[in-house]
Amino acid sequence: MLRKRSEPVPETEISSKEIKRLVRDMYDTMKDAGGIGLAAPQIGVCKRVVVVGFEENERYPEIEEKIEFHTLINPEIEYLDTKVYGFWEGCLSVPNMRGYVERPRKIKLRWNDENGDFHEKILEEMEAVVYQHECDHLDGVLYIDCLKSPLLFGFCDELEKIQESP
Ligand code: ZN
Repeated sequence: MLRKRSEPVPETEISSKEIKRLVRDMYDTMKDAGGIGLAAPQIGVCKRVVVVGFEENERYPEIEEKIEFHTLINPEIEYLDTKVYGFWEGCLSVPNMRGYVERPRKIKLRWNDENGDFHEKILEEMEAVVYQHECDHLDGVLYIDCLKSPLLFGFCDELEKIQESP
């Protein structure tokens, strides 16, 4: 399921009960797991739906800024910068691991919300990373496909040990 390309939600179904239920399940799953984003294929639904946002997060204490909650249906990304921004990414579908990924640091995101309203937003650095990671899930791409180096990847507890050693 994680490797499939997800189907767009037809315009007539964007505000449907089915999508509202899916979005509710996704927020519940994301919050329970302490995630900062979740894509529908991660809960076994191959539709182009993503939720993002958090207020406090134990899995990522290094992220100091909150990320606003947004529901994205059929999101599209336009890359605005060739410069990259690197971050040790994790994923609820690749538990207890982190890997260093560099992604374009500035993007323009276009999407519909669950009420059918259209949005457009420019995002940079950390926020741009989160949205690119989640939207990749819709094309069957995981962050482990985008590692800067296979050496910059491992179990969280092992990586912490390396960090602590002098
Ligand atoms: Zn993920």
